[in-house]
Amino acid sequence: MDKKIIISKSKYLAGLQCLKYFWYQINAKEKIPQPDFVNQFIFNQGLLVGEYAKKLYPGGIDLGKIGDLKEQLVKTFELLSERKTLFEASCSFGNVYCRSDILVPANADKWDIVEVKSSTQLKEEYIHDVAFQKYCFEKAGVNIRKCQIACINNQYIRKGDINPEELFKRIDITVEVEEILRGIEGRIEELLEIAAGKNPPEIFIGKHCNEPYICPLKDKCWEFLPDNHIFNLYGNKDKAARLYNEGILSIKDIPDRYDLNLKQQIQLECAKTSRPKIDKDEILKFINSLEYPLYFFDFETFSTAIPLYTGVKPYQRIPFQYSIHILDSIDGQPEHYDFLAEGAEDSREELLLNLRKKIGETGSIIVYYESFEKGVLKELAEAFPDYSQWTTSILTRIVDLYKPFGNFHYYHSSQKGSASIKNVLPAITDLSYEGMEIAEGMSASIYFLYICGNYDTGESCPTKEEVEKVRKSLIKYCRMDTGGMIHILRALVKEAM
Ligand code: SF4
Repeated sequence: MDKKIIISKSKYLAGLQCLKYFWYQINAKEKIPQPDFVNQFIFNQGLLVGEYAKKLYPGGIDLGKIGDLKEQLVKTFELLSERKTLFEASCSFGNVYCRSDILVPANADKWDIVEVKSSTQLKEEYIHDVAFQKYCFEKAGVNIRKCQIACINNQYIRKGDINPEELFKRIDITVEVEEILRGIEGRIEELLEIAAGKNPPEIFIGKHCNEPYICPLKDKCWEFLPDNHIFNLYGNKDKAARLYNEGILSIKDIPDRYDLNLKQQIQLECAKTSRPKIDKDEILKFINSLEYPLYFFDFETFSTAIPLYTGVKPYQRIPFQYSIHILDSIDGQPEHYDFLAEGAEDSREELLLNLRKKIGETGSIIVYYESFEKGVLKELAEAFPDYSQWTTSILTRIVDLYKPFGNFHYYHSSQKGSASIKNVLPAITDLSYEGMEIAEGMSASIYFLYICGNYDTGESCPTKEEVEKVRKSLIKYCRMDTGGMIHILRALVKEAM
C-alpha cells in the first residue's frame, strides 16, 4: 500500500515557491542539499528569537519538548480544554499537518495564532504560512479568532535585560489570512497530485528560484546554463526570464537590438568581443581624485535579532574587526594593521581608539562599497559621541573603490554582472577568495559569533583549537579585502595608462 502523503507547513510553503522543489521535499528529500554551517546558524538564531517570544506569554505550555510528533498531537488536544497558551501546538487533518509557534486562548472557545518571525517586517509568505495553520487547526475542530505575526521591532533599544514586550511588535493579519484561505483547498489538492507523481514536474528556472528563498536545488537545476548566462545580466531579472523563455541562454547570443540598458549593453559587448570594457577617462578621473597616503580600510560587523549589548537595537551592525593597509605611493610597500575583538564583550570603543591611532590626518580612505563603512562609522559616532568629531572628519575622506566597477567604467565578463569585490578581484588581478576558509562577510560574522560562544543558538561549544583557527581565518579574510583593494587599484592604474 502506498504511504500516505502528509503535507506539512514547510512543504506547503515550498510548494508555493516551486512545485518541483515540493516534489523533492516529499519524494526525494535526501537529494536536497543540507544547509551549511552559516545557514544552520541563522536558522538557530530564529529558534532563539522563538524562545524570547514565548516570554510574551508567561505560563504557556511548551509542547515542542514533549515526546515525539504523535505524542505532541495527542497532548495538544488534551491541553486545549485547559485554555492555556500553548507553544508548538500541533494538529493534523487528512493529508495536512502543522505546528503553531503560539496558540493563545481567546473568547470562550476560540484561539489566536501568533507566528514568530525574526524579520522586522511583514512578508507575503508569512500570510500563507499562517493561513495554512488556520486551515489545519479549523479542519481539526479548533476555532481560530485572530492571526498575528510577532516580528522584531527594530526601534527597540536594549536597556539591561531583554524586554520581550518591546523587542517584538505584533501585526494583525486576520483579514489578509482570510483572503489567502479562499484558494487553499485547491492548492493542497494540486500539491497532492504533484506529490503522487513518479517524477518531478517539469518546471523552468526563473525568479522563483531565489524568491522568497534561495532554493537549495538551485545548483542542480541551473547547472545546464552556460558560463556567462543571461541571468547574470545586471539589474532586474525579468528581462533575463524573458530572454530565457525566448530560448536565449548566453549573454553573447542576445540580439543586437534587444532592449538593454547601458550596463547590459556593456555586458553584451564584452561577451561578444571577449574583451573587458575600460573607460580610461573615467578611471583616470577616479585615480586622480586620490590623495596619498592611501588607507585601504574594511570593517567586519555582526548583527543579531536579539541585541547583545545595552544601547543597541536589533540588527544594528556591530563592528568587531577591521583591517587597514597604508600606502605612500602606488608601487610602495604597504604597512598593515588590524584589530579583532577578543570575545563577545562590546569592543566597539576599543576598536575606535585603536583605529584612531592608525589613521593619519591626511590622505584618502579607500573602502569598497562606501555606504557600509560610512553607515557603521555614523552608528559608532552616535554610540560614542566623544569620537564623533573624529568620525565626521574621517567620513569626508572616504573614497569608494566600488564606483569604477559599479558604474561599469571597468567591466570584465568574468564578473558575471557583479561589481562585488569577490567578483572584481579575480577578474582584474590573479588573486581570488577561492579556497579561503572564510570568504565572505556573512560567514565572517557568523564564525565570529560562533567562537564568542555566549550566543545561545544551540551550537556546541568550539574547542580552543577551533577558536584559534577561526581567528586566523578571520584575520586572513579581512586582510584579503584591504590587500585586494591595493591590487585592484594598481590594476586600474595600469589599465588607465
Ligand atoms: S531551483 Fe528553481 S526550478 Fe529548481 S527546484 Fe528550485 S525553485 Fe524549482
